[in-house]
Amino acid sequence: MKSDRPFLKAIRSLIPRGVQFECQTECSACCTLEGGYVYLSDEESTSIASYLQVEKQEFLSSLTHKIDGKTALRNGENGACVFLEDGRCLIYSVRPLQCQTFPFWPENLRDAASWQATKALCPGIGKGRQYSPQEILKILERQI
Ligand code: SF4
Repeated sequence: MKSDRPFLKAIRSLIPRGVQFECQTECSACCTLEGGYVYLSDEESTSIASYLQVEKQEFLSSLTHKIDGKTALRNGENGACVFLEDGRCLIYSVRPLQCQTFPFWPENLRDAASWQATKALCPGIGKGRQYSPQEILKILERQI
């Protein structure tokens, strides 16, 4: 796909052989990003409400709000994701795509400085299995 090329080029210049990654349990650094929001699709809202066994409207009104017209999870009092408790995600099995795809977010891979900052934040980078540039591109595509 033609529109993939700039991304693939950026990935190849930043991480030419891809990168090892494995989320480190009990870390939660990406769940506490200052000023961050977790955006939800309608399907994700349905899925989380169902997992919580509450009406979707109840979930939306109590645990989400609109940011720039988009639905996002509210943050807790400490600024972290409202579903983070004692370092654990309470909705891990139905967590939104945004959470599933960290650290491979377009903004993290847009340039060397952004990738450096992401590496400094996420201790899972450099551990675990190897992700190829093509595999990372596929993860990016799921978000666009
Ligand atoms: S910052 Fe990285 S290691 Fe920590 S919870 Fe997020 S993805 Fe996992």
